[in-house]
Amino acid sequence: VAEFDLIDVIRARCALARDDVHTGIGDDAALLAVPAGQLLAVSTDTLIAGVHFPASTAAFDVGWKALAVNLSDLAAMGASPAWATLALTLPHADEQWVAGFADGFATLAGQHDLALVGGDTTQGPLGMTVTVHGFVPHGMALLRRGARVGDQVFVTGTLGDAAAGLRLVQQSPDAGSQPSARALIERLNRPTPRVAQGRALRGRATACIDISDGLLADLTHVCTASGVGAEIDIDALPASAAMLALFALDERRILQLSGGDDYELCFTLNESDVAAALQESAGSGAGATRIGRIVAEPGVSVRDRDGRSMTPARLGWEHFA
Ligand code: ADP
Ligand code: MG
Repeated sequence: VAEFDLIDVIRARCALARDDVHTGIGDDAALLAVPAGQLLAVSTDTLIAGVHFPASTAAFDVGWKALAVNLSDLAAMGASPAWATLALTLPHADEQWVAGFADGFATLAGQHDLALVGGDTTQGPLGMTVTVHGFVPHGMALLRRGARVGDQVFVTGTLGDAAAGLRLVQQSPDAGSQPSARALIERLNRPTPRVAQGRALRGRATACIDISDGLLADLTHVCTASGVGAEIDIDALPASAAMLALFALDERRILQLSGGDDYELCFTLNESDVAAALQESAGSGAGATRIGRIVAEPGVSVRDRDGRSMTPARLGWEHFA
């Protein structure tokens, strides 16, 4: 199989068409029409085998995830997805693997009316870089820098599931035979980008970020950009049924606070906008949970139900009440 046969495999499977694609795969560059009155939102993310996904991950799931992590960035800006490019590096011309990968990519792309408009195919260690393009009306993008003291902090969905799934996969290659374990591994391999929720928060959320590196790390980015701090109520962090079934409290808290790869949204709302914003985002998939508040003191602090501070230690959690 040659490079061009592989491109044809991808092209045939990712055939979604859009009116705003003047020229897609097949020429030296794609030609695309950005609607008047909209800003173009562009984001890119690379996945490397053994670093960003276990080398054993099914091709379909790798294709899904490569797009999902990128769509999550558009979601965090409140942007509507439109186009993507795909730079794919393969150790050898494995047509069957590429077909599975393209099917996973295309399945998620179809859910978001996203067209694959170009890319590059090269030989080397397995990895891929996806660039996504979306639109957001002028003045409506969700930025990291708008959180204000007194705002409430929310997250969509549940926290820590993907990191829990990774731990299970690493413990045992056939961990997925048990239903709760399977649910967590599914969250690792096929994250759901919160695109509709991000759009619903346009003009409402004061700041927003997607959780790729873990709640503490990503909320810290929001706080730094906004010149504020945050207090998190650890007992308020949303947990899935599968997480509750398989992980005890201490371990669960670590996964929920610092586990990466969930691709949930973390956002802030002015108190007066909470009711309307939650009602709007409730109609768009995963619900949202209030997990804390924005404060003047820099940094992210974590409190338990009794208001005692906790701080992450190297190997777990340390109380300093
Ligand atoms: P060039 O040599 O001009 O850079 P290529 O031979 O790399 O073009 O690619 C031929 C066409 O196929 C281009 O339109 C390119 O965008 C597209 N393409 C190549 N690889 C991929 C891929 N992995 N996914 C989608 N489109 C691709
Ligand atoms: Mg090329």
